[in-house]
Amino acid sequence: MGLTLDGKTGVIFGVANQRSIAWACARSLADAGMRLAVTYANERLEKGVRELAAELKGSIVLPCDVTKPDQIDAVMDSVKREFGGLDSVIHAVAFAKREELEGDFFHTSKEGYMLAHEVSAYSLTEITRKALPLMEGREGSIVTLTYLGGERVIKNYNVMGIAKAALEASVRYLAADIGPRGLRVNAISAGPIRTLSAAGVSGFKSMLDHIAETAPLRRNVTAEEVGDTCLFLCSQHSRGITGSIVYVDAGYHVMGV
Ligand code: NAP
Repeated sequence: MGLTLDGKTGVIFGVANQRSIAWACARSLADAGMRLAVTYANERLEKGVRELAAELKGSIVLPCDVTKPDQIDAVMDSVKREFGGLDSVIHAVAFAKREELEGDFFHTSKEGYMLAHEVSAYSLTEITRKALPLMEGREGSIVTLTYLGGERVIKNYNVMGIAKAALEASVRYLAADIGPRGLRVNAISAGPIRTLSAAGVSGFKSMLDHIAETAPLRRNVTAEEVGDTCLFLCSQHSRGITGSIVYVDAGYHVMGV
């Protein structure tokens, strides 16, 4: 059984630019034959995302701020109209106020806490609920992106770590909900990768240096490596895996002192 996704369809949330992990996922899936709906968060990103998506055969481009329920509905309506149904959903979206990604976690404001959770964790549940009717009978797969800061204390990751913990727990509960329908949901826990969002985490460069020195593979990972794992998780090769956190981090998560 090859990793071909010919005739399959997917929707991707979280492409900001060519460095985005969502873009690497889109490339891997499209190279395997999947037809994609690529969404962008706001008008500022539209032109760049349209230019990128032009490289993907048969793709469509749609607006979606995941905090706006009507925009998620509109994405699902367009996907139903254009593709007929959905085999995969890629959720690679996160947001926290920049000033809350440094210093003491206890300074986190209630508003910043709620915002980080709304965008980075709750959106997976709402998108899953709204995608289900399109995935019915398809043995589909949902993939989200998380980080080690959701299970261990990583300096400056702060409220985003709490949101990732909620996201990872959501993966487990959603897996139990949708498994009986033959649908799967997993998270990829990626090592640090230089993207637009990562630039907002204070001390990011020293984190990359530390991992290159200490991870079992003695290097950092690439977005392409995450994209290929996403392809695996969307393919029938991973048909026995759901509710899991799959690490693509050069092995860093196994290390102690
Ligand atoms: P990225 O290129 O900046 O992608 C994050 C995307 O989320 C951006 O397109 C961003 O749009 C979007 N977004 C923010 N608020 C949104 C909203 N309300 N509605 C829709 N989209 C929204 O960064 P990335 O590193 O690839 O991040 C993708 C995922 O990987 C995130 O979940 C991140 O936590 C996770 N991750 C990243 C790393 C890493 O080191 N890079 C490691 C592990 C996990 P705007 O640009 O407009 O905000």
